Amino acid sequence: MSMYFDIPGYQIELDERVLKVIDCFRQTRPQMHEAGGILLGEIYGTTIHITKASTPNSFDRSSRFHFERDRAAAQVIVDFEFLNSDGHVIYLGEWHTHPEDDPTPSGRDRQMIRSQLELGKLNEAFILMLIHGRKTTYLGYQTKTNLVRANEIKLFSDQ
Ligand SMILES: [Zn+2]
Repeated sequence: MSMYFDIPGYQIELDERVLKVIDCFRQTRPQMHEAGGILLGEIYGTTIHITKASTPNSFDRSSRFHFERDRAAAQVIVDFEFLNSDGHVIYLGEWHTHPEDDPTPSGRDRQMIRSQLELGKLNEAFILMLIHGRKTTYLGYQTKTNLVRANEIKLFSDQ
């Protein structure tokens, strides 16, 4: 199932196809490294649809507690998706895994996402950061001033 979030001005759909991809990298075993990549998707009206997540490649660097993606390799993906969708599919942000049940951004994560926003090739005034933990998924948005957690919207009750 897709996940849905609320941020000021937008609703976000995190597509179940994306969740399936990133869930392959969930750090369920101690020897697994952090993994990550970029988030891509479309914005129409007040809806942000996250439709793709890139997967780690051999240029990225990782350990159990760190992931750093290669800039050039990610840019190739961004350019490819943009061109092949007539400019509809755009870069939305970053994702990575954490070896903890309920992940929260580290100091390094906060620094990384702030500098990504400052690189500033974005159409929007914010950038998304997703952290996939062992049990829950964190989604935040970085504005010029701070990183805020997005509210998850539960569409259907489990009861
Ligand atoms: Zn992290």
